[in-house]
Amino acid sequence: MAIRVTVWNENVHERTDPKIGQVYPAGIHGALAELLGNAGDISVRTATLDMPEHGLNEAVLEDTDVLVWWGHLAHDQVSDEVVDRVQRHVLRGMGLLVLHSGHMSKVFTRLMGTSCTLDWRDNDRERVWCCMPSHPIAEGVPLSFEIAEEEMYCEPFDVPQPDELVFIGWFQGGEVFRSGCCYHRGYGRVFYFQPGHEAFPTYRTHPSVRRILVNAVRWATPARRRGPLECRMVDPAESGAPRI
Ligand code: ZN
Repeated sequence: MAIRVTVWNENVHERTDPKIGQVYPAGIHGALAELLGNAGDISVRTATLDMPEHGLNEAVLEDTDVLVWWGHLAHDQVSDEVVDRVQRHVLRGMGLLVLHSGHMSKVFTRLMGTSCTLDWRDNDRERVWCCMPSHPIAEGVPLSFEIAEEEMYCEPFDVPQPDELVFIGWFQGGEVFRSGCCYHRGYGRVFYFQPGHEAFPTYRTHPSVRRILVNAVRWATPARRRGPLECRMVDPAESGAPRI
């Protein structure tokens, strides 16, 4: 069965800035949907901020194995009810990919529990290094690759220590950044990936970034969804009572 992905995008830059509209004529969500949809084992739907419940009602999330999140200008317009819902589904096993400026999104800060702030600067050349080549997200990706133009994000990045750090970005100005971070939250897997500034067509054109996104979707796909996490009083395990 195909992996069910929902790509969520605030879709603001592309509609309000003609230059960005040219970079992503189908929206960032459109580019990500095309990329993932061509992987062969992924079925994709898209959702945007302006849809009722931002396109993320209960039925959509129930039918989503992995949610991909791109936001920047409108983090504060995302309703807390939807954030609660996304968090609940991640804890039950839904995968979550948070991209680029999504580090400050409500869904990511909720799941991290920290400010998720970082330092930044306008465009720079980036070299991404893989520091965990055995990780499934690094499969088929060179040990290092260059992104000719990318917004500079650097440490300190106020996130919890990643459970697995897969990529580190180095920028021409000398800064470094934890660019690919894996987390486990409840039964869900979360991957934060830094590249993808809206002014450059990275998601449409960069082979390594594209490969990483497909790998990350596969990695974050749950084996199965679980019921809500509960604090249960239970019989002794040695009594033979089944424990699920
Ligand atoms: Zn950016």
